[in-house]
Amino acid sequence: MDCVNHPGEEAIFQCYRCQSPICVDCETKIDGHPICPACVVQIRERLAERYQAETRHVNYGAAVSAGLLAAAAVAFGWSQLAVMTGYRMGPGALLLGGAVGYAVLVGAGEKRGHSLQQIASVTALVGILFAYLLIFLRAQGDVYAFPEHLTTLSVLDWLLLALGVACAYWVPHIRSLPKQP
Ligand SMILES: [Zn+2]
Ligand SMILES: [Zn+2]
Repeated sequence: MDCVNHPGEEAIFQCYRCQSPICVDCETKIDGHPICPACVVQIRERLAERYQAETRHVNYGAAVSAGLLAAAAVAFGWSQLAVMTGYRMGPGALLLGGAVGYAVLVGAGEKRGHSLQQIASVTALVGILFAYLLIFLRAQGDVYAFPEHLTTLSVLDWLLLALGVACAYWVPHIRSLPKQP
């Protein structure tokens, strides 16, 4: 069989990536495999792209700000609803966690990384505790009603808090899965 690039030249290798027959002159060894010139170019380009994408500066300041903003917004809305209805609205923790995770991701410019996931979960934890505090304070400030169940945390509330934090940790991960090459 002839080399894809050199008609008349005997192909003694097969490209490991695209299976094209290639001659000695066209062959480049990458990780011990014969690779054709076209694939070498593509591999180099892809590596350069990946390097650029991974080293592009992540804006942690913007990520944290966006996360805190989302946490505050959901915490206020949640506490408002809780005081209005007289129920603590525990699943608000999940909403808050998800919103914080998404906000951190957008704030960071759709970058991925464990540091972002950690930022999101810590921000969500602070946000959820802040929401509980708001609910307690507002429930206590209400002179007409002092709903006992609004001012004590149940096991379910702690569980929802943990789930909310987990949500914040996973949303940036799920949302930023790399596109298949
Ligand atoms: Zn090839
Ligand atoms: Zn050749």
